Amino acid sequence: MTHRYRIAVTGAGMGGLAAAALLGRDGHDVTLVERFATPRPVGSGLVVQPVGMAVMDLVGAGGPARALGANLSRMLGHSGARVALDVRYRAGQPGLAMHRAALFDVLWQAMLAAGVSPLTDLTVTGTRQTPDAIHLTTNTDDLGPFDLVVDATGAGSPLSPLQARPLPFGAVWAHVPWPETDLPTDQLRQRYRAAARMAGVLPIGRLPGDPTPRAAIFWSLSAAELDTWPTRPLDHWRDEVAAFWPAMAPFLAGLSEKAQLTPARYSHGSLRRPWQGRLVHIGDAAHRASPQLGQGANMALLDAASLALALRLPLDEAALVHHRARRGHLGLYQAMSAVFTPQYQSSSRVLPWLRDRVLAPLSRIPPLPRVLTAIVSGDILPPVAGSRFHDPADPVVTRKETP
Ligand SMILES: Cc1cc2nc3c(=O)[nH]c(=O)nc-3n(C[C@H](O)[C@H](O)[C@H](O)COP(=O)(O)OP(=O)(O)OC[C@H]3O[C@@H](n4cnc5c(N)ncnc54)[C@H](O)[C@@H]3O)c2cc1C
Repeated sequence: MTHRYRIAVTGAGMGGLAAAALLGRDGHDVTLVERFATPRPVGSGLVVQPVGMAVMDLVGAGGPARALGANLSRMLGHSGARVALDVRYRAGQPGLAMHRAALFDVLWQAMLAAGVSPLTDLTVTGTRQTPDAIHLTTNTDDLGPFDLVVDATGAGSPLSPLQARPLPFGAVWAHVPWPETDLPTDQLRQRYRAAARMAGVLPIGRLPGDPTPRAAIFWSLSAAELDTWPTRPLDHWRDEVAAFWPAMAPFLAGLSEKAQLTPARYSHGSLRRPWQGRLVHIGDAAHRASPQLGQGANMALLDAASLALALRLPLDEAALVHHRARRGHLGLYQAMSAVFTPQYQSSSRVLPWLRDRVLAPLSRIPPLPRVLTAIVSGDILPPVAGSRFHDPADPVVTRKETP
């Protein structure tokens, strides 16, 4: 470690916490700034894919995460009696489905263990750059000087110029105790009607300090349906979902009020360059996509790992190395998300017809099952070019590439 920088990381989400932990462990002087007085995750469950778990291991949070999460071996979706989606993880490399609070907790602990002292209850409003440094402006004080600001403030970033395109569908999400059910505890199960209806059940393991196994459940809604969601009675919605997919009924019994359901809207877009002078954007502040491929948290974790590796170089080289390391992987996943999402969430009748009758049967012909596994696992391309930290057969943590 030859370079030591003063770095502000804004946002204690998946990307910000991982970046702060990795940069702190590399000996940088890291300040983490979060707007919540008591930092808390928003939402219910998500899947950390195998490449994301490689970053969790680098951060030192992989073991605690596995102790809380649920290993996923398969993602299986039906459209009527037809199998529309069937992806299996490689043996020994499962996806890890977690409650966001559990993921947040293990990353928060890793960040503290790396010697980073977070500043909470501070809302970042902007930055001020001089030739030699960058300062943060917040709702109370200015902070700095820093050598670099890492913007990890997510989809609503006040620092990022990204204008993402709103997607026509979102979803409502909730987490409930895992009920008596025939659904397996190691698979994401989904049901579709064309692309206008989608219901899902994801086992997410447990919350810190609570042994109860849980499920995340979700139900796709168009933007117009999300607009009227606040006035929709819970019972009407529950009856509709149970009629659509009776196996979901025991999960719905765990819901007693609307406030347990979180509406989410999705958007799509990426910055062409994540770096502007002494400001770098990571995670949702740099790129956004629907969660259909389950890659958003992974992308934030991979950005954090790539950035930490690049910052072992001089700052002016680090910008280019980080950009080059991530652009191919990111570009491909953003493109695949744009192609796949309308097959599952849109008002098209043609795309789901093709999905069920052409693409799904084709996807069962070798080598396509292995290709799908690589796509979902996050390693169809090297996720951080120039580094093989994610390869369990030959992990190389130190970057070899120079610009
Ligand atoms: C419903 C849903 C399901 C998803 N499922 C998956 C999945 O299965 N797998 C997957 O990989 N991804 C999934 N994602 C995507 C994933 O959640 C995001 O991509 C990921 O959380 C992005 O991480 P981040 O660190 O960039 O931002 P976030 O995790 O959003 O963190 C941003 C942080 O910045 C803080 N902040 C914001 N503004 C300010 C400010 N002005 N000042 C200070 N702090 C600020 C926030 O409080 C927050 O703590 C899903 C997303 C949604 C909405």
